[in-house]
Amino acid sequence: MKNRFLAMKIMFRNITFFFLLAIALQACKKDDDNQPVEDPRAENKQPLGASAEDILSNSTYQKLTVELVYSEFYKPTQQTINHFKDFINGLVNKSQGVVFVETVVEEQPNDPFTIEEIKEIEDRVRTQYTEGNNIAIYVFFSNGSSQNDTQTRVTLGTAYRNTSMVIYERTIKVVTNEDSVTLPLLETTTVEHEFGHILGLTNIQNDDIHESHEDLENLKHCKVEGCLMYYDATNVTKSSVRNFVQGRNSVPVFDPLCLEDLDEKRGL
Ligand SMILES: [Zn+2]
Ligand SMILES: [Zn+2]
Repeated sequence: MKNRFLAMKIMFRNITFFFLLAIALQACKKDDDNQPVEDPRAENKQPLGASAEDILSNSTYQKLTVELVYSEFYKPTQQTINHFKDFINGLVNKSQGVVFVETVVEEQPNDPFTIEEIKEIEDRVRTQYTEGNNIAIYVFFSNGSSQNDTQTRVTLGTAYRNTSMVIYERTIKVVTNEDSVTLPLLETTTVEHEFGHILGLTNIQNDDIHESHEDLENLKHCKVEGCLMYYDATNVTKSSVRNFVQGRNSVPVFDPLCLEDLDEKRGL
C-alpha cells in the first residue's frame, strides 16, 4: 500500500514535471514565433506614395527596375511601352539607369478582380523586388476587369501600393474597341497617370509642399484642367472615357504645379 502510494507520488511528480516542461517549451516556441521574420518583400509593401522620393532621386537607389507583367493577349502596345520608358527616363534621376523587364504569365483566373485578388496575383507573378541599390516597380496588365465595374462605369487602373499598380487592360481594349489610335492613347494615359500616383500626386501623403492644387471635388487628383493628374481612372463612365480619347490626339502631361511637387521630391 505504502509502496503503491509512493509510486503514484513519483508518477504525479513526473507528470507535473513533464507538464511544466511542456509549458516551458511552449513558451519558448511562442517566443520564437514572435521573432520578426524578415520579409524580403517588405520594402515593396508600403503605402501608396511612400517611395516617391526613393523613385525620383538618386540618393538611396541609383537604379530603377520597372517590371511589366502581362499575359500574351493582354500585352500593352509597343507605342505605350516606348512612351512610358521615355516618360520615366524624363522624370527620375538614376545614375545607374532604368531597366524594363517584361514578364509573360498565364491568364489569371476568377475575374473580375477585387483589389485583394489583384494583390494576391502580385504575390504570385511579380519577380522584381527592391534590393540593394535597385528599386523595383510592378505594373500588371490585367486580363480581367475590376469587380467595381458596372454597366456604365469602369476602372481603368489603380495604384495600390508604393511600387504596385494594375492596369485593367481588358477594359481598355473593350472601351476603345482596340482602335489603333485610341487604344495606345488610353493605355499610355492610364499607365502614366497611375505612375503619377506612385510618385505621390496629388497630395497622396498629405505633404503637398507647393500651392495647394488638390481637386477638392476629386481628392488625390489635380485641380488644373488638362493636367495628367486631373483625370481619374477609377469608376469613370464609359461615355466620358470615349469622349476623352476621341477629343484628343496626345497623352496629357503634368502641369507646372505637379512638376514642382516632383522637383521637390527629387531634391532639385
Ligand atoms: Zn487617379
Ligand atoms: Zn497637376
